[in-house]
Amino acid sequence: MPNGTGRGRLGCGGGWILQIDVSGQHFVFPALCACCCGPAGSALSVSSSKSDGKRVVHTKTNAWDFPYCDACVGHVRETETAKRVAWTLFAVSVIVSGILWVSVSPYLGIPAGILAVGGTIFLYKKQLAAARGLCCVGCACIEKAVAYLGWHSTLHQFDIASLDYALAFMVANQRKLVNLSNEARELLESSGNVPLTGSQRAARRQRS
Ligand SMILES: [Zn+2]
Ligand SMILES: [Zn+2]
Repeated sequence: MPNGTGRGRLGCGGGWILQIDVSGQHFVFPALCACCCGPAGSALSVSSSKSDGKRVVHTKTNAWDFPYCDACVGHVRETETAKRVAWTLFAVSVIVSGILWVSVSPYLGIPAGILAVGGTIFLYKKQLAAARGLCCVGCACIEKAVAYLGWHSTLHQFDIASLDYALAFMVANQRKLVNLSNEARELLESSGNVPLTGSQRAARRQRS
């Protein structure tokens, strides 16, 4: 799929991620796994937050549940755990090696730090390989295959890594699609669907 002037971009695993903008309050979520496009029996949520106010800060969070199959929920959770564990071990490694450096000797702190960070990277790669082992050939991504980029009024923006799911989502919400990128339009047209959205226009102003 060409990059062109649209907003398709390379995602995890080298696949394309499509940004899809929809306008409305309610959307249809096809009952397919957002990662492998198989039958969905579970769900994963994506969310985004906005804060406003100076003295009293109000935070608003929107969340959407996308359907997933159990296997894909498994590899997404494994990947998230691997990242969380790696960051924790990395922080502990830096702190402990720093303490050894200051309180004992740099000759102990430096090799201890190198060893600990090396061990953390080894464990992280091992956990990622385990998560990858849970993926099937149709998986779009080892992490969440959908990201919620945020919203402006009733406009909601999603990044979808599975082109099959992106197509199903666009077809199910055709009348709510806005800002259709060249890639999204091509995908719809290649599947025999004629995009229903036209180009956006501002109101014409007249004075009399
Ligand atoms: Zn799946
Ligand atoms: Zn998957």
